[in-house]
Parts: sequence; C-alpha cells; structure tokens
Amino acid sequence: MYSKKQLKEWDKQYIWHPFTQMQDYGGTDPLIIERGEGCYLIDTEGRKYIDGISSLWVLVHGHGRKELVGAIAKQAGTLCHSTLLGLGNVPSAALAKMLVDAAPRGLKKVFYSDSGSTSVEIALKMAYQYWQQKGEKRRKRFLSFTNGYHGDTIGSVSVGGIDLFHKVYRPLLFKNYKAPSPYCYRCPLKLKRKDCGMACVEEFRRIVQRNKDEICAVVIEPLVQGAAGMITQPKGFLSAVWKISKENGLLFIADEVATGFGKTGTMFACEKESIRPDFLCIAKGITGGYLPLAATLTTEEVFSGFLGRFEEFKTFFHGHTYTGNPVACAVAIENMRLFKKEQTLKKLKGKIALLKDELRRFFDLPHVGEVRQQGFMVGIELVKNKKTKMPYPPAEKIGQKVIGEARKRGVIIRPLGDVIVLMPPLAISEKALKDLTDVAYSSIERITGG
Ligand SMILES: *Cc1c(COP(=O)(O)O)cnc(C)c1O
Repeated sequence: MYSKKQLKEWDKQYIWHPFTQMQDYGGTDPLIIERGEGCYLIDTEGRKYIDGISSLWVLVHGHGRKELVGAIAKQAGTLCHSTLLGLGNVPSAALAKMLVDAAPRGLKKVFYSDSGSTSVEIALKMAYQYWQQKGEKRRKRFLSFTNGYHGDTIGSVSVGGIDLFHKVYRPLLFKNYKAPSPYCYRCPLKLKRKDCGMACVEEFRRIVQRNKDEICAVVIEPLVQGAAGMITQPKGFLSAVWKISKENGLLFIADEVATGFGKTGTMFACEKESIRPDFLCIAKGITGGYLPLAATLTTEEVFSGFLGRFEEFKTFFHGHTYTGNPVACAVAIENMRLFKKEQTLKKLKGKIALLKDELRRFFDLPHVGEVRQQGFMVGIELVKNKKTKMPYPPAEKIGQKVIGEARKRGVIIRPLGDVIVLMPPLAISEKALKDLTDVAYSSIERITGG
C-alpha cells in the first residue's frame, strides 16, 4: 500500500517520538514495525525480532492471538463506544467484576481510564478529595519514593522521583515528601545490604511520623521501581512500608501499572507480600497489549466518602471521554480468560527459573555491575568500572549501543539509561527466552568489550 521508503521518510519527517532525542533519531535508518506474530515483531523489510520488552511491558499472550483479535472484532461489530458518564455498558461491567475478583482483598470499586498516568492521577485526586470531604483539610501532600515513576502527566510527575525526567518541571509540580529508594546497589543511605537492617524503612517511618497529619497517601511501585532501571526491593520492604502507612492512618496507593498481570510471577505484586492497598493502579498488561485501557481500584471506605445528596457536590468530578471503552474492556476480559485457560502463571514458574539460570553468567562480564530480577522483570546495570561502580559517561550512550547491537541480532529491547531491560511476554517459549538472553549477553559483551 505504502512504499517502505515513503514510510521511513514520513516517520522521520512528521513523527516526534516519545522519550527519544530526535537529533539522534534523524540520523538513523528508522525501523518500522509492520506485523506481530506471537512473541516476534516483523518490520517492513520482513526482518523478524524477538519482542524482548513486550512492546514496552504490555504484551502478555503474544501478538495476533485469535481469541484476543476475535474479542475485539466481535465487540467492535456490536458497540465500539458509549459513554460511562452516568451510563453502563456490557464489557465494562463484566470486566469490573473480574478485576475485583482478581485484585487484592478489599478493593471493591473500579474507575476506568486510558493510561497508567491517568490511573495514578485518579488515585491521587481521589485520595485528596476523600480527606477533604472527611474534613481533614490539612492533608494536602503525598509521600512517594526517589527513583519512583508513575507516569508523565503533571500530577503523576509530581509524585515521580527520577530527576532526569522530572527536574525541569519542578516549578509546575505540587509539593510532596520523598522517602529514599531501596536501591541497594547504590544505597542512598550509603549502607551495605548485609547489615543495613533496612534502615530505609526506618527513614520512611520517621518521615511518616513527622508529617502524618499532612499526608493523604503513600504512593509506591510494589516490588520493582521499573522505569528507574528495574530496581528490585529487598524482601519485606513493601510489607514494612505498608504496615507503617496503615498504622499511621495513611491511604496506600499501589502503582501496579508495570508489575500487574503476571510480570513478577503472581497476578499482582502486592500478593507476594500479602498487602492490601487502598488503591490499585493498573494499565499496561490489562489488555494483554492490544488496546489502551487502565483502571484504578479502591475500597468501599474511600468510595463511600464520595456519597451524599446531589447538591452536596461530593461527586468525583473526573472522567475521560473514552473511559470504560467497550472494545478495550472486551479484549481485557479475553486477556484474563486466557490467563486461566492457558495456566499462564503456573507455566511461568519454570520460565522464571530458566531466566534466572540464564542470567547467572552475566555477572561475570567485566562491565556488568548488577543483574536484578523479579519474575519476568530484569535489569542489567552496566558500569564503566565494576569495582567503584562508576557509571559510563552519558555521551558514550552505552545502553543505546547495546540495544543497537541487539537489533542487528534480531532482538528489540530498550535501555533505561545504562540499564539493559529484559521483559519478555509471559507466553514466550523456552527456546525464544534462551535466544533473548543469548543476544543480550553477546551484545553487551561486544559493546562493552568484555
Ligand atoms: C508505564 C508506567 C506508568 C505510566 O503508564 P502510561 O500508560 O505510560 O501512562 C505509570 N506507572 C508505572 C509504574 C509505569 O511503569
């Protein structure tokens, strides 16, 4: 239909790519994806690549699954859209029931939106308004973590903690409190994991105790700080900060946009430490990577804080035009059915163990500082000097070079700074999983001269 050459030209001429330095992009030969097949992407030249980061952490059962495509086609032929503002639709109601059944105990209400950023934005606004309507007017702040990432809208950036992305916007952001990130490899408290006694938890406790009357909610990415470079939390950290939050009367927002839908090995990361958050933010994997959809789940307690006579105006005045889109909800339902039908989580156990085995040899590479894994979420941190943990100078673009090398070898991955990320689709075969780690290994070896 379109010539390959024309598409590349239009892409370069008209598209402003997200999180991409366009000055660099302009000098490259753009890669245009045309098709997806299972865990592979195929470009306009017919070249095939392993989808090594699940198309930015969304893909679950693979591309082109007939059950998922069928659900979309069927729903599209029935009803593509109808507003959820004061009106219901079939798939959004059925999906809400499934989400409540699958979520950690106590989450009973589902508020839909379209992206991870909006799912967090909604939790923040709900938590704030909840306290305002309860008469606790002093609660205007949130407590989040350094290295946290919750999306790119201004509210979610306000609770973010990645200076590289967020610093320039600081004058526009609302003020909040930041607790130290549990980044053990580069401990912000300058301690060693083996004898630190999780001092970061004590620091968190101090911040909570000092400011609890002003705090609406704690915001956290459970188990893994994804966008900061797959920073995995030490065991017990999540349950400890949850317990402290609840003991001090704070609401707890679990941002499972990245970790949800099996990425850590369980349906939700919260299950691993048996915590019951007041808000659960989900997006990315919710439709298996087929359509944009997000949801914010909350408790009966929060929900009831918004009930009142019409003229009291306790209503949650928030909603997006495409909130609860029937086609997106229909594919999300089928995605959850496939989890059951295929026993996705059960089959994942062996693959997580295999991945762990495959990753062992990376530690021996001279420029691999740390290898972090939580389920199917992996971060391989490259360093200029392994002994001193000195990072590469940004101008070396070491992460970019490694993923460029991987592309030549038939793998699409994306770095986070100097961290090479692997996050394969849950449905990946053992063979493809091995191919993925082989390519990651040889690309790192080649580029870092290890
Ligand atoms: C990706 C991500 C978001 C933002 O989701 P978008 O759909 O890109 O807006 C929020 N929180 C976490 C933890 C994420 O990984």
